[in-house]
Amino acid sequence: MIIKKQLILSDPITSLNGIGPRSQEQLNNIGINKIQDLLFHLPYRYIDRTRLIPLGELKAGADAYLQGEIELTQVRYGRRRSLLCRISDGTGAIILRFFYFSKSQQNKLQRGQILRCYGKVRKGSSSLEIVHPEYRLIQSNDDIELEKKLTAVYPSTEGLQQPRIRKLIQQALDVLKNHRKNIIELLPDEVLLQENLPTLTDALEHVHCPSITADIKSLIREIHPAQKRLIIEELLAHQLSLLELRNEIKKEKSPIIEISKNLIPQFIEKLPFKLTNAQKKASKTIASDLNKSSAMLRLLQGDVGSGKTVIAALATLQTIENNYQVAIMVPTEILAEQHYKNFYAWFEKLNIDVVLLTGKLKKSLKEIIQEKLKNNNPIVVIGTHALFQESVIFSNLGLVIIDEQHRFGVHQRLALIEKGQSFDVYPHQLIMTATPIPRTLTMTAYADLDHSIIDELPPGRIPINTTSHANVKRNEIIESIKKRILDTKCQAYWVCTLVDESESLQCETAITTAEQLNKKLAKINVGLIHGRMKPNEKEKIMRDFKTKKIDLLVATTVIEVGVDVPNASLMIIDNAERLGLSQLHQLRGRIGRGNEKSHCMLIYQSPLSDLAKERLETMRTTNNGFLIAEKDLELRGPGEVLGTRQAGIPDLRIADLKRDAYLLTKIQKIAIKLIRTEPKKVELIINRWLGKKQEYSNV
Ligand code: ADP
Ligand code: MG
Repeated sequence: MIIKKQLILSDPITSLNGIGPRSQEQLNNIGINKIQDLLFHLPYRYIDRTRLIPLGELKAGADAYLQGEIELTQVRYGRRRSLLCRISDGTGAIILRFFYFSKSQQNKLQRGQILRCYGKVRKGSSSLEIVHPEYRLIQSNDDIELEKKLTAVYPSTEGLQQPRIRKLIQQALDVLKNHRKNIIELLPDEVLLQENLPTLTDALEHVHCPSITADIKSLIREIHPAQKRLIIEELLAHQLSLLELRNEIKKEKSPIIEISKNLIPQFIEKLPFKLTNAQKKASKTIASDLNKSSAMLRLLQGDVGSGKTVIAALATLQTIENNYQVAIMVPTEILAEQHYKNFYAWFEKLNIDVVLLTGKLKKSLKEIIQEKLKNNNPIVVIGTHALFQESVIFSNLGLVIIDEQHRFGVHQRLALIEKGQSFDVYPHQLIMTATPIPRTLTMTAYADLDHSIIDELPPGRIPINTTSHANVKRNEIIESIKKRILDTKCQAYWVCTLVDESESLQCETAITTAEQLNKKLAKINVGLIHGRMKPNEKEKIMRDFKTKKIDLLVATTVIEVGVDVPNASLMIIDNAERLGLSQLHQLRGRIGRGNEKSHCMLIYQSPLSDLAKERLETMRTTNNGFLIAEKDLELRGPGEVLGTRQAGIPDLRIADLKRDAYLLTKIQKIAIKLIRTEPKKVELIINRWLGKKQEYSNV
């Protein structure tokens, strides 16, 4: 007889029954290596087959288990052929809709049959419906028993079916039962007590395998104490990892950059405007950050057009005056060129060396710049992320400024922070966002940074008037634009969008649109700019637009970030329904910068989804970036807003930043205290939820 060794939680998953090389690989791919990892692979929802919901009580959006008698089955020939089957139970009725169905299926769904089904209820055109429900026919005499417990549904990956995951997790739970002490409680006792939370072991058992007596409603809404226990620890893990990163950086030595005595006063004297109070306040904070021996790690938030560039210029001047180098990183080449021109014009008179460094720069020029950089020259280098990927060697980097941070995503930002550690002294960092970020997100994804907010626009800005128009009105819109441009001599953007980020398709649309507009607008100079043009072509077009040689600029969303042409006071956004709120707000921020009243026209393709309707409505009713940011978070969810989804940071396992936002202040406090009092636990919590030390360097 083979005596099987008693398993422990740190054993590899291969020691469980039924794991071959293929499933091992599948599990590894979703971060499951040890038995313990299975325990922290948490259900993201539950299926409730413990009771049947009366049809009269159904609500759109809910998953429901239900039963009813077939009243009618028929094929509908609409935009898409479908089989409809209406069932009722005396309290109400619902339609089951099948887009794919066979003749025999249709024949079986006879009037008078009893059906039991499970699926997501949604609002149909005339009544509630479920599309492709799971269903089975019931003979009136053999009643199927209801289930006793909730069934957990897990995040999965291709080829890994739910029943298999459930079985594996059951094995892991058995191991846990034999070794209840092996899973260390890491939350401080006082937190467990204060919040009246179960132990970790109880919480894990409960969420994977809710007991028969469990409070089903609160489990489904994910507010059960067992879930709260895990949510708190997960959010804490994320908070701790960012704070740890911050502490590590703060330990490094950074150059002390003295307050500017010459350059800044000279620069301000020549500025054609006065700084707003908000700008003064933010710059003062930054100036004193730079003057410390630990790195500045500051996030500067301000609405579109609030004047963040000047603040970047002031920080740059202070650094240059102290003979350090400055790198300014932006997300697009257009923006790099624009900043380059601005800084060059501002700094030329002050005898400061400003260079543009992009991937496409000629080799000989690049070599000259690299030579300067190597030799400790104080110099301002502006570029895209190529700045840090190319073989550029900064010998004396004092300050890194990242503009329009949202385009880079959390991952790239953190990668850059790590990059800084390869310098002798750790450069100061100023990170500027394009639009405000919702508070819950700054408290989590940006927990490693200090924050400054510019909550004031330069004086004299006139709010933009925004309207929305169905695409069928296109010709009228074009006529009205023509009239406005000819009457008022204003300049305009026509922005072409596409839902998938396929740049080439977007460019093609822009090219065709420009041709069409050119035909229809004989007296108007139509220009075109898109991402596939060469840098010098783009530069020429932007120059022509700035100098009013172009009246109407057809553009892809390449102009989204940062572009500043104050005379442009009209913007048309084509297919506006395809864009998210913050992107629309960003785009719209290109106008409303001058003294003229600006107009933004959103053209949409009908029919609009509810979500799109709400976005356009928000755009029409407010210009306030802080409000729009909150709304954006509400509609899109944190993963999209932060851009982590693309960057590959796994989503939170159980916490939900929107739902659990109320916990964040508390969690911040717990984190700070834990770092001070129990540093050993900090590492363990981070490892348990985020794996070994997070590496961002290879992004
Ligand atoms: P953003 O915060 O979106 O980056 P910019 O820095 O591009 O904004 O500034 C927007 C415009 O406002 C620019 O044309 C800039 O010159 C101008 N500006 C900045 N600060 C002021 C100010 N205090 N008074 C008047 N205009 C200003
Ligand atoms: Mg800007």
